[in-house]
Amino acid sequence: MKLNDRGLLVVISGPSGVGKGTVRKALFSMNNHDLVYSVSMTTRKPREGEVDGKDYYFVSKEEFLQRIEGKQFLEYAEFVGNYYGTPLDKVEEQLDQGHEVVLEIEVEGALQVREKAKDAVFIFIAPPSKKALYDRLKKRGTESDEVILSRMQKADREFMLAHKYDYIVVNDDVNNAADRIMAIIRAEHAKTERT
Ligand code: 5GP
Repeated sequence: MKLNDRGLLVVISGPSGVGKGTVRKALFSMNNHDLVYSVSMTTRKPREGEVDGKDYYFVSKEEFLQRIEGKQFLEYAEFVGNYYGTPLDKVEEQLDQGHEVVLEIEVEGALQVREKAKDAVFIFIAPPSKKALYDRLKKRGTESDEVILSRMQKADREFMLAHKYDYIVVNDDVNNAADRIMAIIRAEHAKTERT
């Protein structure tokens, strides 16, 4: 019997290029779960194939700044020249309805959530190696060499913060990583203080 009807907030985070998005999609393609993805808001321009409202809510910088003013984000961060944030109202609504809400966000934002949501679960996705991270960013082909370099420098700083998370999952294989995250979510449910 589940005594706590509020859902669990699951924060998946880690350096850019580590494959958070791919792991998250693999997680959501599994059956038998009650997970809801929190679609973030960003001022970044859409990449080819990205859909507004599904991948991100794409907004102007002006609108984003107004929303910061209005305290409409659970967390937000400026990441390599663009703003990214988690809309607060949607997360609260889904948690209240008992859904597990998954955020896939960068490290600075995750640490803001850590301060606010004490019972959330924090999972750091790590690459098998630094070289694997570089190769992945390069292969993705969506960013210039300059942006890749700044993302790598940022990743170096982010590795130092991995110890602040509850779990580290190495993305050596996407499906294995997603399986491990699902196991973590199930284990968190079984914890006595939540049931
Ligand atoms: P990208 O431009 O590659 O889609 O995302 C850049 C980084 O921003 C990724 O590490 C991604 O996880 C992160 N990100 C996406 N949405 C959010 C958000 O709402 N808040 C924060 N803090 N980071 C986000």
